[in-house]
Amino acid sequence: MFELTILGTSAAVPYKDRYLAGQVLNVQSELYLIDCGEGTQFRIKDLGIRKSKINHIFISHLHGDHCFGLFGVLTSMAMSGRTDPLSIYSPSGLKDMIETVFQYTYYQSPFTINFNEINTQIVSQILENQYLTVTAFPLYHRIPTIGFLIKEKPFPLNIIPEKIEQYQIPYSAIKAIKNGGDYHNTEGGIIPNSELTLPPYKPRSYAYCSDTAYNETLVPILEGVDMLYHEATFMHDMADHATETGHSTTIQAATIAQVAGVGQLIIGHYSSRYENLNILLDEAKSVFENTVLGIDGNVYSLDLQRII
Ligand SMILES: [Zn+2]
Ligand SMILES: [Zn+2]
Repeated sequence: MFELTILGTSAAVPYKDRYLAGQVLNVQSELYLIDCGEGTQFRIKDLGIRKSKINHIFISHLHGDHCFGLFGVLTSMAMSGRTDPLSIYSPSGLKDMIETVFQYTYYQSPFTINFNEINTQIVSQILENQYLTVTAFPLYHRIPTIGFLIKEKPFPLNIIPEKIEQYQIPYSAIKAIKNGGDYHNTEGGIIPNSELTLPPYKPRSYAYCSDTAYNETLVPILEGVDMLYHEATFMHDMADHATETGHSTTIQAATIAQVAGVGQLIIGHYSSRYENLNILLDEAKSVFENTVLGIDGNVYSLDLQRII
């Protein structure tokens, strides 16, 4: 499973049915929370997301609309009996901020919080586990800000179930075949790997860019990602204002997607000046056809596809 749930798409302040920045990425049933604006815990609850499955939280920057929800999420996790450690990745300052709030509220977390301070000037891998890697990269905003690139690790070959039966392949031999080996049967015969397997699935990838001004140095990092979330705070007639405030327009987000050759662009982080989001979508689509609106509560998933 590789599934993104968007919790909030509003920039700076909540607007009608749009909450502040927050997303949950589900990869193989592990949940990764990306940004945590105020109200995130309400969205998590309303959408039935199991917060006990969240072990990693990624915060792009310390503007309130991206991290003020943390206090509620962390204390709610404790109230539900959490004891598992939690890792948080962010630019510097977040640890002090959270510990200060904890101090003045006489609060002690019952679970360990591992704070990982990320260098916002360089591209660096910040997490690797069995299924994926997470890479942080610099964004171009008013304060130190990072984006995140989540990539699945390569999959093994797919063994054809009927072949297991046909050649009576024991369980102990399967791993080697999935890794490309031939099968040596008990009579000394060799069944070539190509007869036993289908090509592996293509690793899926997702990149998160919020908040950022238009900057083409992002292109090589985002090259070929399957799904890109890129902020599009403004319509393009506000391009000057976008640049001044460290944000992007629809056309700029779509241009990055186009030049980087991504599979799909999801836009979001909308200014509260826009009630009707279709005008933003249409403008983005004029540059990059495969653009969709990020909508609070919507789920965006990537299916497995074999490498041909
Ligand atoms: Zn923001
Ligand atoms: Zn910001």
